[in-house]
Amino acid sequence: KSSRMPANTNEGSMSKQVIVITGASRGIGAATAHLAAARGYAVCVNYVHNRSAAEQVVDAIRQAGGEALAVAGDVAVEADVLKLFQTVDAQLGKLTALVNNAGILERQMRVEEMDVARLQRVFATNIVGSFLCAREAVRRMSTSLGGQGGAIVNLSSMAAKLGGPGEYVDYAASKGAIDAMTVGLAKEVAGQGIRVNAVRPGVIYTDIHASGGEPGRVDRVKDTVPMRRGGSAEEVARAIMWLVSDEASYSTGAFIDVAGGR
Ligand code: NAD
Repeated sequence: KSSRMPANTNEGSMSKQVIVITGASRGIGAATAHLAAARGYAVCVNYVHNRSAAEQVVDAIRQAGGEALAVAGDVAVEADVLKLFQTVDAQLGKLTALVNNAGILERQMRVEEMDVARLQRVFATNIVGSFLCAREAVRRMSTSLGGQGGAIVNLSSMAAKLGGPGEYVDYAASKGAIDAMTVGLAKEVAGQGIRVNAVRPGVIYTDIHASGGEPGRVDRVKDTVPMRRGGSAEEVARAIMWLVSDEASYSTGAFIDVAGGR
């Protein structure tokens, strides 16, 4: 049995492995797309705005001999999510894994300044988006609905435990919601051949900190990390792909901190 077969796949069936990775045009999502392709997955590289960056990820995967497809879609928009998964069904094949990676962090702000519109944006992408994609994945992968089982990995954050005080309590709250959804879904769909787990990155060198208004944030806080450095997107991708893989066949509702001991 191949090590890249997800849990609960029929023994001996060497069927194609298909993974959707949301927000995969850059950062942790792009690193996960490259690693998944290297392990033999056909990869859907979802993106919302940057088509050329997503196409570059796809081109690099194809040049390395892998299979990938860039598919546009805002995870917070139900119609986009339905279309995204329909496109994957039609063009890549039967879904076997989902990585709920798309997420946003807004500029650092104290609670007194935060408005409702910001909360709605952050929750729309981080929690509604992850929920909608998980729902579509369950509808396709559930063994009770004719699927072959599979794995979902959600991107939480150490912020879910640390709270993001003075910087982004809204973001931390959305990631706390991801944690609760991970536990609940894991229990709900365990009998349908689907494992649901999460990774909690610490401070990782990606462009999310620039969109949070502070491109140098990783270097500013890295001395508060016991390992005294920020992490790379590839280090997070390896934990994600371990949870997706059959190596994690008895893990569900579990969390891996990739945070240098933070
Ligand atoms: P990033 O900003 O580089 O990547 C996030 C990607 O999600 C971007 O490509 C963005 O375009 C996409 N995206 C945003 N909204 C979307 C939407 N509505 N629909 C589809 N795609 C959307 O950041 P990253 O650091 O690679 O973050 C990936 C995940 O890891 C996020 O969920 C983030 O919260 C989490 N995380 C990151 C860190 C870190 O330090 N970098 C720490 C903890 C958690």
